[in-house]
Amino acid sequence: MKTCIFCGKKPDKKTKEHVIPRWLIEMTGDPNRTTFIGKYKDTLRKFPWQNFTFPACNKCNQEFAELEGKAKLVFINLLDKKKITTEQINILLDWLDKVRIGLWLGYLMLDKVIGFKPNFHIKQRLGVSDRMVSIHYLNDSELGIGYSCTEFPAFKISPSCFILTINNISLFNFSMEFALSRRMGFPFPEKKLVVPNETMVRIDEFKKGNERIMNPIIRKPILKDSIRLYQSIQKPVSGIIPIEYLGKYYNDYMDNNVSHIYCENDFTKEYGFLEDILDIGKPVETKRSLTLKKLTIQTLEYQIFCLSELQPSFELLDKKEISLRNKFYRKQIQINQSYIKKIKQKR
Ligand SMILES: [Zn+2]
Repeated sequence: MKTCIFCGKKPDKKTKEHVIPRWLIEMTGDPNRTTFIGKYKDTLRKFPWQNFTFPACNKCNQEFAELEGKAKLVFINLLDKKKITTEQINILLDWLDKVRIGLWLGYLMLDKVIGFKPNFHIKQRLGVSDRMVSIHYLNDSELGIGYSCTEFPAFKISPSCFILTINNISLFNFSMEFALSRRMGFPFPEKKLVVPNETMVRIDEFKKGNERIMNPIIRKPILKDSIRLYQSIQKPVSGIIPIEYLGKYYNDYMDNNVSHIYCENDFTKEYGFLEDILDIGKPVETKRSLTLKKLTIQTLEYQIFCLSELQPSFELLDKKEISLRNKFYRKQIQINQSYIKKIKQKR
């Protein structure tokens, strides 16, 4: 059955959603050009960008058209190195959630992964988890769209990070529930658990945050000469954050359980919570091939990090199931590791 990429229901009046939106296709070159979107059973999949669409209901499509319109303005400013507001950063992060999950669902549909039923769609995963983006400027004037690291099995299990390149900026985007909250000083769960017969992860035993930023916010390094923007979102799918943990710090830096944007800007040396404007400054522009190579290695390492250290615990499952899952994860991790080795060997 075809389902709406946004809500997962059977579409009422069927429309089509461009995972890579039309405005972006137009902004990055000839809108009628074709592209290769990875391999399927060893055949290259060739598509006109315009036809890279998936089913959506009319209502959902309308709802998301507004986000697209706003995202377009954000990219115009970013490409021009103009200031953007914190509200626009929120839009950028929402939009990246949308594209990341859209690509994940899109490829699962294209690959016709048998028996796989995604337990969420775009709507359920947009703006609900901790997230970050890093922005890297490239030193050429090439046009085009590119995304990568979405084809790895690790991404199919946990669609938490990818790279998106638009003309001469590359974005690294990472999102996972409560992956930033502790080191951003906010309450965080001591436990994330996979529960037998439950599709959602159980989040439990909240701890009080220590109410200050711990640097680095993520222990895994992120490529410098960039602007890095972090946001914690405290909307647990299960469990409740005890009210006594929501003190002054929480009130100062959280609005409706969504944190202010914490910024690390290597170009202006601004490090801290943003008031309301992000000044891009004068970006250090780096070489495309080298930057993308480094970002790809970084993203594959983050995917490993997600499947190992950030993964919910299997401790409630029976022994046989635990060993099966661990074995399966190890296999996916090895795929990333061997690819990293291959990239490093290439000159
Ligand atoms: Zn829908």
